[in-house]
Amino acid sequence: MDLSENVELKSETFGCTNCGADLNYKPGTKSLSCDYCNTQNEIPQLDLNVEELDFYEYLTTKSANENIYSNKYVKCSSCGASSSLDGKISSSNCPYCSTPLIIEDSKDEKLIQPNSLLPFKLAKKEAKSEVKKWINKLWFAPSDLQKAVLNFDHFKGVYMPYWTFDLDTLSNYVGQRGEYYYETVSYTATENGRTVTKYKKVQKIRWFFVNGTVAHFFDDILISASNSLPKKYVSKLEPWDLKNLIPFDKSYLSGFISEKYQVDLEEGFDVAKSATIQEIRSLVRRNIGGDRQRIISLNTNYKDISFKHLLLPVYVSAFRYKNKLYRFLVNGRTGEVQGERPYSWVKISLAILFGLILLGGLYLYFELNK
Ligand SMILES: [Zn+2]
Ligand SMILES: [Zn+2]
Repeated sequence: MDLSENVELKSETFGCTNCGADLNYKPGTKSLSCDYCNTQNEIPQLDLNVEELDFYEYLTTKSANENIYSNKYVKCSSCGASSSLDGKISSSNCPYCSTPLIIEDSKDEKLIQPNSLLPFKLAKKEAKSEVKKWINKLWFAPSDLQKAVLNFDHFKGVYMPYWTFDLDTLSNYVGQRGEYYYETVSYTATENGRTVTKYKKVQKIRWFFVNGTVAHFFDDILISASNSLPKKYVSKLEPWDLKNLIPFDKSYLSGFISEKYQVDLEEGFDVAKSATIQEIRSLVRRNIGGDRQRIISLNTNYKDISFKHLLLPVYVSAFRYKNKLYRFLVNGRTGEVQGERPYSWVKISLAILFGLILLGGLYLYFELNK
């Protein structure tokens, strides 16, 4: 199966092949004369061999063939996260924002069944002690933070939803390779009151049009399917030991919450695609070679797409400090802690003041001992 992305036109300038001047052009233009040296620049066109296929139709058909999994979830009215519920629970709070959940509103939902998961390696007690260590190491944290955080009422183990994608890519590009060369130019200078002619070397660039193809296989592009926590903290929990994934088994979920994916398969695939683009662009640049590179157009075919739905273990806690919500998370495999934290402006101001006094003292010391 071959899927093709639309032509990507990024660069709106290219270098004149004769004089190196930056020329503006409109995508699709086949030749352009240089305003500076009148050279007619012929612009190579991307060799397109596009098989028009809809990714989303493809993914929908694929996901329809996946196992469907039914579970009871309750949606948080405040942050929108959907958490699973154990049958017996009569009250619960959202693990992400500690808002009380309305259990009566829970409903059965059908989802793509997870293929695999990483079980929790850290017990709740161990995760708590990692959090304590983390808080003790925080600089400039308010002194009463310890008490606020160490209320572990809402500290919960959550299986967070992820997608991984494997895909093969083949990209055609048109670009320019820039090669430096040097020219000797003369200039005048004044030496001992006389005007003299001097010479210096200046670096110039010559641009060549190039085209080519790069292929790259992407393995296990990991995409978070949750919107409940700030992306920067979620991505900092990586790397995950994905080689230890085990097949999905519902019994691992008992005693933990599992979050329903909010980023669906299609959206997840969009994120995965944009994650590939940066890597592809740097491969194209390496392929172009030379001293400088420009990518004028790029077309990528995605082949052999496969995806997995995973659950990864995270301890999540939310606490309120002076009416503001702070959240932190612990990687349930490694114990790594990431999160939001308050700063004590009193402590920071005192530290700055102390620093200034110290500097003033040092200055005086050196002045007096000159
Ligand atoms: Zn020119
Ligand atoms: Zn919530």
